[in-house]
Amino acid sequence: MEIHDSLVIGAGQAGLSASYHLRRRGIDHVVLDADDRPGGAWQHRWDALTMNDVHRVADLPGAEIPPDTGRERANTFVPAYFADYERRFELPVVRPVRVRRVRPSTGSGDGPAGSGGPSTGSGDNLLVVESDAGTWATRTLVNATGTWTRPFIPHYPGIETFRGEQLHTADYPGPEHFRGKRVVVVGGGASAVQFLGALAPITDTIWVTRREPVWTDRDFTPELGREVVAKVEERVRQGLPPRSVVSVTGLRLREQEREAERLGAYAARRPMFTSIEPDGVRWDPSTGSGGGTTDSGGGAFEPADVIVWATGFRPAIEHLAPLHLRSPLGGIQLDGTTAVADPRVQMVGYGPSASTIGANRAGRTAARGVAEHLRAAEVVSA
Ligand code: FAD
Repeated sequence: MEIHDSLVIGAGQAGLSASYHLRRRGIDHVVLDADDRPGGAWQHRWDALTMNDVHRVADLPGAEIPPDTGRERANTFVPAYFADYERRFELPVVRPVRVRRVRPSTGSGDGPAGSGGPSTGSGDNLLVVESDAGTWATRTLVNATGTWTRPFIPHYPGIETFRGEQLHTADYPGPEHFRGKRVVVVGGGASAVQFLGALAPITDTIWVTRREPVWTDRDFTPELGREVVAKVEERVRQGLPPRSVVSVTGLRLREQEREAERLGAYAARRPMFTSIEPDGVRWDPSTGSGGGTTDSGGGAFEPADVIVWATGFRPAIEHLAPLHLRSPLGGIQLDGTTAVADPRVQMVGYGPSASTIGANRAGRTAARGVAEHLRAAEVVSA
């Protein structure tokens, strides 16, 4: 079994930034990535998402993202940049490797599960990383697994009875798929706003959100970015589950959403429905529907062909469960990017660093955290 000073899980923006900074510090490491190709979550985003639709993809450290015309597909343009980046800086990415479990080494007699290699030795203080492609051991870990593989759909009574189509942002096939249909878009974030922008001109849309959407007319400046990051940072410092950085930025309509706005797609926002029926969604009379089409005593009802769940993602961190990193408040408590429960572990792209700019910074902070931990461990064992 290979033993490294550090191991990065995930080669998206956060993992690549971490690997770049580890390399600069001369720290021996490997990056394990579940995808077949470079690009992190960007390679899986829908074809209709152009560079004009994304807010701004921050430069990875040491190499500017090439200029775009706005018309390029985000799911090819960004992955091409990442692929070049990995090559240029000779980052030690191994793929496809899906990590299943990270656990503390049990020291003596800890046969590396699944690999049949030698023991890691007694009192080694290593982390054992088990994957579908073998087992690694490491002194420190940088987790950079993002959220894309954990789409979140809330449960509503009757959800399984719906005869139409239900899909999540992660499976959004582009607007043409929906032409002429009646579509319920659920969610108060940037993705819902974008979907409505594309769908309202060619479908009949109903927008449903749990909370009143928060609009902003502020441009996305570095100052606003810092304010937003500070809010999410405060949550993870306390050990609360992080909120999406985008969710606290505030919503803003762009040029490509003006037609939908003119059609009233945003003005007719409804509160969350209370149940789903085979042919549509229903509001309990006590919640108020914001105006449904039918009311047969059971609350307002809207027929629908499709429900699009733009309801976000959760951190993809199930593989870390054996490390017991979660605080009683439900999140992983962090000091910077260091897990308070186990300082061998750095979390990047998590909470306040779940944006491309945050991921970049977190990569640098994590590499520093790794270096400090390795130094401290050396002093202790010397
Ligand atoms: P990811 O890019 O998700 O990379 C995670 C990597 O980890 C993947 O390669 C995956 O294969 C790997 N992985 C996952 N689990 C495992 C495992 N168990 N074992 C091994 N590997 C694993 N942010 C911005 O700053 N600007 C924007 O304009 C912007 N637009 C966005 C548009 C959309 C539609 C969405 C959904 C998000 C957008 N964001 C934007 C957010 C931004 O994309 C993310 O915060 C950032 O790209 C996340 O990078 P990451 O490295 O944390 O994760």
